[in-house]
Amino acid sequence: MLTRFAPSPTGELHLGHAYSAVLAHDAARGAGGKFLIRIDDIDGSRSREDYVGASLADLAWLGIDWDGDPVRQSARLGAYAAALDNLRARGLVYPCFCTRADIAASLSAPHGPSGAIYPGTCRGLSEIERTRRLADEPHCWRLDTARALAESGDLQWEEAGQGLRSADPAAHGDIVLARKDAPASYHLASTLDDADMGVTHVVRGADLIASTDVHRLLQALLDLPTPLYRHHALVCGADGKRLAKRDAAASLASLRAAGIDGPTLAADLAAGRLPAGYSLQNP
Ligand code: GLU
Repeated sequence: MLTRFAPSPTGELHLGHAYSAVLAHDAARGAGGKFLIRIDDIDGSRSREDYVGASLADLAWLGIDWDGDPVRQSARLGAYAAALDNLRARGLVYPCFCTRADIAASLSAPHGPSGAIYPGTCRGLSEIERTRRLADEPHCWRLDTARALAESGDLQWEEAGQGLRSADPAAHGDIVLARKDAPASYHLASTLDDADMGVTHVVRGADLIASTDVHRLLQALLDLPTPLYRHHALVCGADGKRLAKRDAAASLASLRAAGIDGPTLAADLAAGRLPAGYSLQNP
């Protein structure tokens, strides 16, 4: 068994991250397996190096140990580009020149699990127009989801304790695989990383369950193995809302400063016991 914890270094880790990291770590260690850290730092404008160091220090404070050096998404851009080239050569992605405002202005943009569903404006551009606009217009690359689904058939994954679940990538529309401002989207990078790192069990928050619909499709298209998934309940504050990076009181740094013992907290979280004022909720 090989699991991972994949923080984005865009803020301090909080109790919700600790819960996720502890579950992933303990699952692997309990089975004599490996536990890796991945730093999801593909978003260069929001990632900060000091948060990388702080996150690793927080995990060490909890008593979590990991195998090898943390993997960095920023060091894997070549793998993302190669996957995109593969999909491009098969006609499964297309460049999209729309701005957020263009998409919002489109009357036919309903909402899906990951925001507005792209109305498909750039899907039908002629090759001539595409080539002309590619030369000087900012663009992202979108998956032609209908075409991709025609190649991949029925998609399922195994959810721990629940059996097989059907993936519904169509609900997301034509998702972005490479952003205007970043060489890969979360979906593409995370799917490739999990496969290349040899992750057998993805343990992460239930807020990401809809993303698994998309990841399952990318696995089929790129001939990658499908790990087993465990989407766990989310840590919520007294207001019943899930923790966000702005909830300073729940940050591991403030709990540490308040004199809490890290390994004791980790053992409590593993047993589903949360500090007063916090609870686990399924979205
Ligand atoms: N970096 C992602 C986050 O912070 C985690 C992605 C994942 O576990 O797949 O939410």
